[in-house]
Amino acid sequence: MKVLTVSPRGFCAGVRRAIDIVDLALQKFPPPIYVRKEIVHNKSVVDDFRRRGVIFVDQIEDAPENSCLIFSAHGISPTVRDLAKSKNLRTIDATCPLVTKVHFEVHRFLREGYCLLLIGHKDHDEVEGTMGEAPGKIQLVENTEDVDRLQVSNPDRVMVLTQTTLSIDETKGILSAIRKRFPKSKTPPKDDICYATQNRQDAVRELLTKGTEVLLVVGSKNSSNSQRLCEVARDRGAHSYLIDRASEINPEWLKGVKTVGLTAGASAPEFLVQEVVKLLHDKYGAETEEIFVREENVIFSLPKELAGATAVR
Ligand code: SF4
Repeated sequence: MKVLTVSPRGFCAGVRRAIDIVDLALQKFPPPIYVRKEIVHNKSVVDDFRRRGVIFVDQIEDAPENSCLIFSAHGISPTVRDLAKSKNLRTIDATCPLVTKVHFEVHRFLREGYCLLLIGHKDHDEVEGTMGEAPGKIQLVENTEDVDRLQVSNPDRVMVLTQTTLSIDETKGILSAIRKRFPKSKTPPKDDICYATQNRQDAVRELLTKGTEVLLVVGSKNSSNSQRLCEVARDRGAHSYLIDRASEINPEWLKGVKTVGLTAGASAPEFLVQEVVKLLHDKYGAETEEIFVREENVIFSLPKELAGATAVR
């Protein structure tokens, strides 16, 4: 058996920054540290922080007055921010700057008189935060059927924003349905689907040209960008499975398979990928080959509360 690992995979700049923020907060502030929602959508990362004393809460109400609360990488609405202020919480914002960019776009395009559509998934934390920037003023589009139901006050002035972690293929289909209904609709000058999502999907496409029969994606079930990597492979006829740990691999998946592709979603740590490589080597004698697709060198600076600090892990 051959295992094709691909680069880029795993942590993106936004996830690295969010994890560094929690690491640094643990070093700098007295415990406990609270995090609203999962800091990033990865079970292993969240479990590790939980072991180190971080308390994850769903609601601002669950963090005691005056405590230190970190907002997750997926972003928050102004209502959540105001609520935290009213409780005198010491807050640190780990929202990915590329999500913040979409939040800014909401206000900019509303000021410019556009009707806003957001392509995304209803219950995702990021969508909740973006929609919360302008309650009642953004229509969510989850699929092409939703496009038929849209009602806009000015069909000549429609702006389409997107969740940052969508499938590029699926989004193209929805965008073309929107353009069919609203030929003058526009998208922001710079893509909302982020560089890391695009790069990881491109990398999977490349793996599929190298004979990958089964694709293993290391990532958690609630990780949007990881789910999309599986879809990219499935849409092209390969079997693909999303796994949190190597122990979840079902031997049935690999029966008679000669080439396995291996990647990881943007919130999955590299040690989990290496765990899979080791299992495939030990159990199936698999040789590993790395496929390099693109270099990534994006780095985001830390929020002002932690500027100048260095994370020690
Ligand atoms: Fe930011 Fe993209 Fe990473 Fe999400 S996947 S945290 S938007 S860089």
